Amino acid sequence: MRILVTGGAGFLGSHLCERLLNEGNDVLCVDNFFTGRKRNISHLISNPYFEIMRHDVTFPLYVEVDQIYNLACPASPVHYQHDPVQTTKTSIHGAINMLGLAKRLRAKIFQASTSEVYGDPEVHPQPESYWGKVNPIGIRSCYDEGKRCAETLFFDYHRQHNLSIKVARIFNTYGPRMHPNDGRVVSNFVVQALKGEDITIYGEGQQTRSFCYVDDLIDGFIRLMNSHDGFTGPVNLGNPGEFTIKELAERVIELTGSSSKLIFQPLPQDDPKQRQPDIQLARAELGWEPSIKLDDGLQKTIAYFDDLLAMKSLD
Ligand code: NAD
Ligand code: UDP
Ligand code: UDP
Repeated sequence: MRILVTGGAGFLGSHLCERLLNEGNDVLCVDNFFTGRKRNISHLISNPYFEIMRHDVTFPLYVEVDQIYNLACPASPVHYQHDPVQTTKTSIHGAINMLGLAKRLRAKIFQASTSEVYGDPEVHPQPESYWGKVNPIGIRSCYDEGKRCAETLFFDYHRQHNLSIKVARIFNTYGPRMHPNDGRVVSNFVVQALKGEDITIYGEGQQTRSFCYVDDLIDGFIRLMNSHDGFTGPVNLGNPGEFTIKELAERVIELTGSSSKLIFQPLPQDDPKQRQPDIQLARAELGWEPSIKLDDGLQKTIAYFDDLLAMKSLD
């Protein structure tokens, strides 16, 4: 099959391109390289079934493909808040263009949505039926509301144009090829620990997140895309193992053997207090659940950042 991956040079996109190529597909990676990096896909370039196109999804795209994975969008608060208007445009205009493309081609289309659609949740853990608690005018809103509106567009194209859609709500995911400077907690803590710098905990570190290793997540993507016709999602994909941010810092210090100290900094505005996926639907519909334990995933991530540091290529 010929498969389009938007955001294919990013963290998740590069793993997805690799997996799709390994399964014998022809992959077209479309990316504007805002947060994506050529290094993430350099090992794929010699593959004759891999093609890269520099393109911004806020502009129309005319290509011929059988399936579309729409991942293009900066994902970390530092990056999506850098140019919030462009973030909203990427989610919404990007979704319209990719849905228009899917409609013309009658191609199945997957959307990388997010646990951020639940905002700072009042229901715990979060099932797909929960509508969320999102601030529409805060500094996270460009991302949260952009992704919510993209979901609306997916479901309206499905109802109005009978398009085959698959919507995944992704929870915090980590692993090799995370951007070292994107400010996300796993990359920050690992890099700080490896450099012997202070570990920056925002707030008191009692807020929780549930961390999924990238290989588990990509497996969920493929299962969702190949699920039976009637199943559209939205479906939560994430690891239900919930940790406080302080516990994460302690795990990273132990696994790296670092002498770094914990320091406490102010909690950013609208920072969710708790987040844990309810994955009953993914278990039932996709037969999916994560299998990689936090310590094992962290070890692979630490090895990746250790290599980057040795090459002095953290930019
Ligand atoms: P990333 O920043 O590494 O990847 C995003 C990619 O999209 C980058 O390669 C970037 O250059 C590209 N991009 C951004 N704007 C674009 C545009 N206008 N046109 C074309 N390309 C553009 O982030 P990621 O972690 O790989 O996230 C991928 C997707 O998964 C995003 O849609 C994100 O919202 C979603 N997601 C990720 C997580 C996570 O924990 N990593 C959690 C929830 C949702
Ligand atoms: N579009 C695209 N590639 C295509 C088909 C459509 O990028 O192959 C874009 C096009 O720019 C359009 C958008 O998708 O604005 C939505 O398409 P749709 O057919 O839903 O709407 P319309 O063309 O009627 O505005
Ligand atoms: N965080 C932290 N120190 C850091 C980076 C992040 O304590 O150096 C916290 C952040 O405030 C949030 C959690 O870790 O509570 C996860 O942050 P991240 O940006 O990775 O993801 P998100 O908030 O989008 O879930």
